[in-house]
Amino acid sequence: MSDYAVQRERMVRDLIAARGVKDERVLNAMRKIPRHLFVKDHLRSQAYGDHALPIGTNSRQTISQPYVVARMTELLEVGPEHSVLEIGTGSGYQTAILAALARRVYSLELIAELAQAAIPRMRQLGLENVKIQVFDGTVGWSEWAPYDRILVTAGAPKVPEPLLGQLAPGGALLVPEGPRNLQRLVLYRKSPRGEIRRREGEEVAFVPLLGRHGWKPEQR
Ligand code: SAH
Repeated sequence: MSDYAVQRERMVRDLIAARGVKDERVLNAMRKIPRHLFVKDHLRSQAYGDHALPIGTNSRQTISQPYVVARMTELLEVGPEHSVLEIGTGSGYQTAILAALARRVYSLELIAELAQAAIPRMRQLGLENVKIQVFDGTVGWSEWAPYDRILVTAGAPKVPEPLLGQLAPGGALLVPEGPRNLQRLVLYRKSPRGEIRRREGEEVAFVPLLGRHGWKPEQR
């Protein structure tokens, strides 16, 4: 095993499984996707610790902590038959984890530079079931809707309504909701008849979801 594979194995055992993530499919995806390829060269030695790390050159965006990525993926119960919409591609790490588990993944990112860096990473890893586009994700991506699963990886003041509209009957949507610097994971489920149920989970801290149904850039 390479050094990175050893570090990754340790990350899964000590930082993810030890903190209660049990879904073997999720743990295997975390073992498989090389997180060090999603951070800048000089941060690679930190890639398998439990921290968010900066991505991009002049933005304050980050790649999420491995535990948070695993936990959100587990809560969403992504299956091999699912079509998944992700808002906030960032580095593309969470995108790659979803792509390892789902049939198709569609991911939207507001910052062109980040999307452009994430696209070749998918190709490099042989993940051919992913489409990434530069767009305001708070309005969703109607072209491929409805989605079985929707994951928002930025903090929203509240769930963007268009996303609930693009969720398939029987589907689930996970979004960090709350004030700008501290949110709670909220899981929405749509019944086969179209009724929405809402359940609040643990606290998280994501960068803000901007855009038409998100925060305004100047808002606090
Ligand atoms: N999941 C990512 C981390 C995302 S950080 C990873 O694993 O690396 C949140 C990302 O959401 C940032 O890249 C930010 O630019 C993006 N974002 C914020 N508002 C958005 C919007 N309205 N549509 C699409 N992306 C958005």
